[in-house]
Order: sequence, then structure tokens, then C-alpha cells
Amino acid sequence: MPPDLYDKPVQYVKGIGPKRARLLARLGIKTILDALYYLPSRYEDRRNIKSIADLSPETFQTVEGRVVAKEVQNTRRGLKIFELLLNDGTGLIKGKWFNQPYLDRVFKVGERVLLSGTVRRDYRWGVGWEILNPDYETFPEENGKENIHTSRIVPVYRVTEGLGQRAMRAMMFSIISSVSGRLAEYMPEEVLRRTGLPGLEESFLYVHFPGEDADLESLQRMDSPYHRRIVFDELICLETGLAVLKRGRAGLRGIAFDGEGGLVRKVQERLPFELTGAQKRVLREILNDMAAPRPMNRLIQGDVGSGKTVVALLVMLNAVQSGYQAAIMAPTEILAEQHYRNMTELLKGVDVRVALLTGSLKDRPTEGIKNGDVHIVVGTHALIQEEVEFRNLGLVVIDEQHRFGVLQRASLRKKGLNPDVLVMTATPIPRTLALTLYGDLDTSVIDELPPGRKPVKTRLFFEKEKSRLYDFIRDEVRKGRQAYIVYPAIEESEKLNLRSAIPARDALERIFPKFRIGLLHGRMKPGEREEVMNAFKAGEVDILVSTTVVEVGVDVPNATVMLVVHAERFGLSQLHQLRGRVGRGAEQSWCLLLAYGRLSDEALQRLRVMVKYTDGFRIAEEDFRLRGPGELFGTRQSGLPDLRVADLTRAGDLLIQARQEAFRLVERDPLLERSPGLRGQVERFWREKMEIFRTS
Ligand code: ADP
Ligand code: MG
Repeated sequence: MPPDLYDKPVQYVKGIGPKRARLLARLGIKTILDALYYLPSRYEDRRNIKSIADLSPETFQTVEGRVVAKEVQNTRRGLKIFELLLNDGTGLIKGKWFNQPYLDRVFKVGERVLLSGTVRRDYRWGVGWEILNPDYETFPEENGKENIHTSRIVPVYRVTEGLGQRAMRAMMFSIISSVSGRLAEYMPEEVLRRTGLPGLEESFLYVHFPGEDADLESLQRMDSPYHRRIVFDELICLETGLAVLKRGRAGLRGIAFDGEGGLVRKVQERLPFELTGAQKRVLREILNDMAAPRPMNRLIQGDVGSGKTVVALLVMLNAVQSGYQAAIMAPTEILAEQHYRNMTELLKGVDVRVALLTGSLKDRPTEGIKNGDVHIVVGTHALIQEEVEFRNLGLVVIDEQHRFGVLQRASLRKKGLNPDVLVMTATPIPRTLALTLYGDLDTSVIDELPPGRKPVKTRLFFEKEKSRLYDFIRDEVRKGRQAYIVYPAIEESEKLNLRSAIPARDALERIFPKFRIGLLHGRMKPGEREEVMNAFKAGEVDILVSTTVVEVGVDVPNATVMLVVHAERFGLSQLHQLRGRVGRGAEQSWCLLLAYGRLSDEALQRLRVMVKYTDGFRIAEEDFRLRGPGELFGTRQSGLPDLRVADLTRAGDLLIQARQEAFRLVERDPLLERSPGLRGQVERFWREKMEIFRTS
């Protein structure tokens, strides 16, 4: 097989050409490979050819016969109707097409023809049967041509304007025929043997143009063995790439930290609370990993409020005591500022210097970072800017990892020489998806909340119940608690008719004249923001009116109410994150969802999921079910290649098999030198994202 057959533009396939290629491009089909992976969305069974004598009315049937007569008729209203009369020896049937007079040239009297469509009785003309706009097949030379539109299981593709089903099918047939006999099997034989999956070419032929004896049901469900083979290929490309990335790092020499734990223990003892069992376990896992001479690559998963930050702080101290610098990157300035404040507070009287580095900060501590004066840097993605240089960065922590892509993770890593990397996420994701998204990471799970937390109670309200909500907030604030009120926008805009934070603040000051109301949004200067956050944290602000800038990470334990205005506009992961801002202290907390207008079914389902479940894993699964993996929790930003055929919501067992096989292959043959075909396929799959098999 020529190595670039898959990359050949479909334009050069016989019978396609530039004009049709442009139509295909609209469907995302540019190369042969694109076309092969463009699977039919469903199938129609047109296998049984009926004798005309045996037809039953109003059913979809296929008939075969010879053309007896044909003509184009002009109706009084200017319509052109092409009519064809067919005889199969048992009876006559008329085919009728509207406004396609060119068909007169397609059919020849005496030729064999197949028609598929819904048949009905036609009494007027006396023939007995007619069929409107049937799909058809002609056999001009009778030279054994394979029929593609009738008398078989026919593929139905997603098409686009200007491209009909019939033309699409014919093009797909040309493309498939053009590669027939040329698609060499690249999957190692042992993999095929273990998985029992069918061959490559066979699978592509079958899913596009199934054979006579195909099993229609498994085709329609898209899980015929041939479908599974194609999905498996995509998954094994994904997993092989992850296996190579992981292995490539395992071979690197990293830092073996020898912090002895003195500083870690000291700060741990000074904490105002005792670590939970889960925190202690995860801390140990990380410290062990850091002691090993290979670079650590570890994920901490833990639901909102499970206490990941303190674990991060302790392991950063381990790096510092070993003589290295550590950096933590957060997705928002507010969160970075908060981490900075907390860490400075916890490290009072300890000889460790912490600095803050964010984009809007004027005095940047770049000098101290470069000469090693600064031990711990807390920042945003400003950390990965070019001018930031570390003296000896040994540990990188990435908070709220789902907000960053694979590539940003890599750029921060490059600031050191094979530093250890710890990524943290509150985003609980179903196991199958975790395997792919974080497939190159080791995982630690904090599966326990700090003691004394009461689950947050969540309720859904509509506009007319607004005053009840205000009464409720008034009661809570009078009890000494604090509240967040979150809006989807900062200012009123003409396009979106939404309640928004700035005008709402004024309105709320009238509603709660006795309370202190603060405003927080992303367009404020960092200094102002800091002031507001500090005041809220210190209890000097009762109600914080905000945008979703408080969504991730913000931690004020005395706040017990989270009111989300226009809750219908937020996704499940956002709502779950927002709710995670409360329920951080010992008091009962509330999440109040205020919805406006008529809700779509989907929005209503989403809000009901929030009311029903508090567990992040459960919510992730519901989100997965409602929206599918592409949208889920920002996986789009994950930096992984897109999947064309594999549906991660359904791929469970195949994904696990693909992962096992991929890791097994890479284990024994790290550069896949013994499977060049598969290697090429893996490279092609990852091409736009990264170079998988670096030769250096
Ligand atoms: P997240 O995992 O969502 O990042 P944080 O690290 O912000 O959670 O922690 C949430 C809150 O719980 C913080 O106020 C933190 O000080 C507190 N916390 C963390 N660990 C414990 C613990 N073991 N006992 C009590 N409170 C804790
Ligand atoms: Mg956090």
C-alpha cells in the first residue's frame, strides 16, 4: 500500500473532481481517510426484491424489471413529470419523478432497472401500481456492475445542501472501490487475535456497503463487529499516543526529592485542622512518588471542597526543603490571589518565600524567581510567559487542571528540567473518560470531605418566587452568615436580555438597605478585587454580587447561601462548581437556583439533576449522559485529538481493551518499530496535536 493513500485528497478519486470535492469538504471529508471514517448514520434494508404481483400497498419495497416505456409529461402548472413503465413478467409498475426531466436520458427502453420506494395503488391509469420518486439503479451495459442504491442494505449518510443522498452514496462507493484491495492490515496480528476483531479492509467495506447476509440490527446499532473494529482503531491510536507520552517521560531522569519531611511535618502540625484520612493517604502517595528518580506525573482528583490546596502546599514545601522551587498555576487571578493569601498566612514564621505572579500585576517578581530568592510562585497562565525564568524549578502544580490544555501543562513543565508535575481537578469524570483524558497520568483520589460538613441543600425557584428568596437571604444574613449572588453577565447588553451584576447590585442595595453588599467581576482591577475578596472573607461584606469569577476554588467557609440567577443559562459543571463555594463550614448551606422564562427540556433536566444529586461523580455521569463527552467539563480544551467515530459514552469495554493493547505494545516496542503501519496511523491521528514519536 502506498503510505500516503489515506492522505490522498478525494478530489482525485475517479468520478469526483473539484466541484464535488468542495461539497464533500463541507462534511469534513477531504482525504480518503476522512471518507473511510465518515460512517453511514443509518441503513435501509432494500434486499428483498418483490414480484410486482406480490406487492403490498404503502410499504417500502424494491422491484426489478425491464423498461417498457417512458416519457416526460408537462402538467398545466408547468411541472415536469418523468414517468417510467416497468415490467417484471408478473405485472407492471410506474415510476414517477417530479422536476427531474434529465432522467429521460438516464433510462433506456429494454434495459434492466431496479426501483426502491414506497409503492401505492394506481387505479386511474389502470396499471395497478405506482411508486413516487423512487431510488433507482440502472445497468446500462449489463456487465456485472454492483448495485449500490437498491436491492441491498443501503447506507444512508448525513448530507449537506446541494448534495443528495444518491450522489453522496455513489461518491462513497467510488471512494471505497478505489481503495479496495489496497488497504493493508496494520494491526499487529496478536491484537486481532486477542480481540477477535475482523480485518481492516473488510470492516470498511462492510460498514459502508454491507453484504447480502449482513445483520441489519447490529448495523443499525452501530455495533457490528466491523463498526467495533473501526472504533477500536481510533481508540488504539489515542491510547498508543498516551502510552508513548507516558513512557517517554518514564525514561527521563527526574529529581529524587529528599526533603526528609521536616518542613512538611512542621507546617502540617501548625494547620488549624487535622488532615482527613484521604488527604494523608494522597500526601503519602505524592511524597513517595517525588522521592523516586523519575519525573512524577500525577493527578489529584477530589470533589469541590475536599481540600486539595493544602495537600499541594505541603508537597511544594517538600520540594523547597530539597532545595528546589515550586510553582502553582491557577486558572483565574482571583483564585491565584486566594492561594497566595492562604499560603502566606500558613507560612508565617516559616522561612519560605512565596510570590504572586499574575497578568495584571505591575510589579512582577521575575527577578526573585530567576535568582532563587522566591521559593514558591503562585500564579496564573502568566507563569508560562517567556520572560519568566526559574532558577531551579523542581515541582509544578496545576490547579483546576480541566481549565488548562495538555499543551499549557507542557509549557509550564518546560520551565524546569524534568520537574515533577502534579495536576489537580475537582472535575470528577466517569472512569472510562478519565482513562483517556488523563491516560498518561497516575491518579490519587481524595474521596472524603473534611469532617462536619453538611451536604448543601439545593432548590429550584422561578421568577415569581423571587421575594421568598430575598426573605431567605435576609434571615441567613441576620444569623451572621454570608451569601453569594451570581449573575451570568457583568453589564446589561442589548443582545442578551439578562439580569446582570452591576445593575443588580444597585437594586439589591435597595432591597437590603441594612446589609453590606460587595461587587466582584473580572473587569475590576486586581487591587480592587483583592480588597473585595478580603472584605468578604473577613465578614465585612454580607452579600457578594458576582459573576462566575467566583466559580472555581474560592473559599469562604462562613458563606452559606449561593443564589444563582439565570441558573438555566449555566452548565452542570459550572453549577456544581458554584455550589461548591458553599458548604465549606459547619453550618447548613443552601444553593438556590433561580430560573427565568420558559425552560427547555434540557435545561429543566439539568436543574433537576442539581437538585437531586450533590455528589460530583454522579453529576458528571448525568452530564455525560445529557451532553456526551465532547462538551463535558471542558474536555474540548483538553488538547486531545478529536474522535470521529468512537463515542466515549458507549465505548467502555473497547476503550479498556484498546488501552491494554496499546500499553502492552508500547511496553515491548516503544517506538513501534515492529508495527510501522500502526505507527503511521498513530502519527496521523495525533498529527495536528503533537509529534508522538520524537526521534531525538
Ligand atoms: P478544593 O479541594 O475544592 O480545592 P480547598 O482546598 O479549597 O478545596 O479546601 C476547602 C476548605 O476546606 C478550605 O477552607 C480548607 O481550609 C478546608 N480544609 C481542607 N482540609 C481540611 C481538613 N482536613 N479539615 C477541615 N477543613 C479542611
Ligand atoms: Mg481548589
